[in-house]
Amino acid sequence: MPALANTPTDRDLTDWDRTHNLHPWAGIHGWRRDDYMRVNTAEGIHIWDHAGKRFIDGPGGMWCVQIGYGRQEMADAIAAQTMTMPYASPWSFTTEPAAMLARKLADMTPGDLNTVHFTTGGSTAVDTAIRVMQFLNNRLGRPEKKIVISRERAYHGSTYLAATVTGKERFKTRFDKADDLVRFLPDVNPYHRPQAMSIEAWCDEKIADLETLIAQVGADRIGAFIAEPILCSGGVVVPPPGYHRRTREICARHDILYISDEVVTGFGRLGHWFASQEVFGITPDIITCAKGLTSGYLPLGACIISDAVMERIAGPDENDVFYNGYTYCGHPVSCAAALKNIEIMECEDILGHVRRVTPHFQDRLRHIGETFDIVGDARGMGLLGCLECRLDPGNNSYARQQKFGAELDAACEDMGLLLRPFGNMAVFSPPLIITGAQIDEMFDIMEAGLTRLSAEYAA
Ligand code: PMP
Repeated sequence: MPALANTPTDRDLTDWDRTHNLHPWAGIHGWRRDDYMRVNTAEGIHIWDHAGKRFIDGPGGMWCVQIGYGRQEMADAIAAQTMTMPYASPWSFTTEPAAMLARKLADMTPGDLNTVHFTTGGSTAVDTAIRVMQFLNNRLGRPEKKIVISRERAYHGSTYLAATVTGKERFKTRFDKADDLVRFLPDVNPYHRPQAMSIEAWCDEKIADLETLIAQVGADRIGAFIAEPILCSGGVVVPPPGYHRRTREICARHDILYISDEVVTGFGRLGHWFASQEVFGITPDIITCAKGLTSGYLPLGACIISDAVMERIAGPDENDVFYNGYTYCGHPVSCAAALKNIEIMECEDILGHVRRVTPHFQDRLRHIGETFDIVGDARGMGLLGCLECRLDPGNNSYARQQKFGAELDAACEDMGLLLRPFGNMAVFSPPLIITGAQIDEMFDIMEAGLTRLSAEYAA
């Protein structure tokens, strides 16, 4: 292998990435791809590629860049913690940032969610939540009560357990998964309901799906129900009004732990620290979070557990140990980054800002739905949006409609806006600091892209 050049050329970097870097979720046939955009710098809501072209970061990283890029305060906090205590084994030690952040999260979460288990990201937070349920039911002497109910199109992560409860089949092809541990509820997307059906009737049907499944499987075999407040990677699916409240109530009735996966909706995406209580009126047994916790500056996740669950877990056996953990649990630098991120969000009233700009964002989104025939549904909540292309199997453009997300993303990329494609959908979740004028710029570009695609699909 040739030695690394001191100053790599563009060509070197492309080659090395193609040859040695297996990206996540990469098409394995063509994993030696060289078309990843190499990004060099970022500031506010913008990122620049290596050639100097500027883009609005529509997806906000991967739904995670809340306070925007290039914050000196974040760099300072990270540097300061690195110089004082860059790492501490969580087996033996705690640190000031870990203790402070645990306390802060206990304050921010609803009800009696007061115990924080730090993780390395969202997948490990979900993994931990499921293991908490397993531990609990094993300790209570009911080892058969461990099936998890999840939902089609849900994304919960990439560890064995988190992937098991993920309801997106393509994420699991060719991997083994623990099918006997999970049951999936059918599609909850209101856009996919039968044409004549009201949203209320759709909600009743989805609740009936849950009750039927519980009756079929038996509540004594079901340990947990896991749901994102909004199915994000599943296409920003906003549940019908009352859905979460009713599912929560059913779980409580059957002693089924309710796990709210707030990896995307936590930390301001819907204008509140967490969406479960403040947006949807429920107090879960466990909340998982990650991403916006540090605004993506460093990796960190958390599984936050209620006192009621902790009291049942902590039994009388002195030798019992909660054998779950990671080398980087409560990593002090990540925790310091999270504390600074939260401080910035508080000082700049970013939650208030999100609530103030949301109506404009959602108006422009709905306007697209009313204006462009190719868009079957334009939906969202807070600073989350999705455009779902109308699928028309009889149309010559049907094959293109199925790739609408990638096509719209490519059209917008030319004009300086990035989106996140998912099949016939394009989603976006810009940094929460986005201004009204920047929201207009984003939607103007999307409309220009849609005008172009509409003409092509009609031709
Ligand atoms: N849960 C949800 C709802 C997510 O959207 C994601 C990531 N997109 C995860 C869990 C997994 O998080 P991570 O990639 O940090 O492991």
